[in-house]
Amino acid sequence: DMRERAVRRLETENALHRALERGEFLLHYQPQVSMATGAVAGVEALVRWKHPERALVPPSEFIGSAEETGLILEIGEWALREACEQAARWCAIGRDGPPLRMSVNLSARQVAHPDLVGMIAATVRDTGVDPATICLEITETAVMADMEAAVGVLDQLRALGVSLAIDDFGTGWSSLRALQRFPVDEVKIDKSFVDGVAVDPQEAAIVAAVISLSHALGLRTVAEGVETVAQVDRLRTLGCDIAQGYFFWRPVPAEDLTQLLSEPA
Ligand code: C2E
Ligand code: CA
Ligand code: CA
Repeated sequence: DMRERAVRRLETENALHRALERGEFLLHYQPQVSMATGAVAGVEALVRWKHPERALVPPSEFIGSAEETGLILEIGEWALREACEQAARWCAIGRDGPPLRMSVNLSARQVAHPDLVGMIAATVRDTGVDPATICLEITETAVMADMEAAVGVLDQLRALGVSLAIDDFGTGWSSLRALQRFPVDEVKIDKSFVDGVAVDPQEAAIVAAVISLSHALGLRTVAEGVETVAQVDRLRTLGCDIAQGYFFWRPVPAEDLTQLLSEPA
């Protein structure tokens, strides 16, 4: 059994390696909509694997293995570079209003890597992207292991001019202390809370508390996985800043958004 697992792991590792070499990864982008104006304020870059013999493979099927084998470091670096290049292209369109923000996910392995800051600095420099348009999404669990070290890394990242978000907020320890201590700009309220926000008073109370606490700490709030108009209405009433979800957009290829982003915001 152990042998079998080791073999399977090696196979997956080889497959992911080949995918990297052959350029089989691609990014889809999911718009984030301003609750106040309805305009697209930003997008989140989400990786997919264009496997030669399979339908587009979602990250849920390979991010775990990529984490285990460490290949997430290379995949994540590729994704950041690709997203920065795309952000720079969209910025060059020069639509009215504030520039489009590009959110990119960082894995726990990346956050723990000693050269994370150097890698991101180099990517920003090489791609010529305005770092103010880049937001790095980090989960609570990725930073909770070693708070002290994490705060140092997050400070250095912000010194590069990028902004930071706590991803999936509410699913981990959700320490209020962490919210206060981590130098972040944005809190992403996990879909599991958004699901019940319009129908369950207790879920709504939690979301209301997260939003008001975030605002009191000067943080922007983004609701994830918004699927219904009732959720949109409730989140707007609660003062949520930005919404992301299938109600507005599914993640789509860059081409599908270029036209939209050329129009006035
Ligand atoms: P996440 O960062 O929480 O991303 C949000 C996920 O929710 C995405 O799944 C998105 O497609 C999905 N989603 C958005 N709106 C809705 C909705 O209204 N309803 C439902 N049911 N789902 C919605 P996706 O693209 O499959 O990505 C899954 C996870 O894989 C991400 O969760 C993130 O943790 C990870 N991931 C994706 N791309 C990257 C990457 O480049 N690097 C790293 N480290 N992780 C990534
Ligand atoms: Ca995310
Ligand atoms: Ca999330």
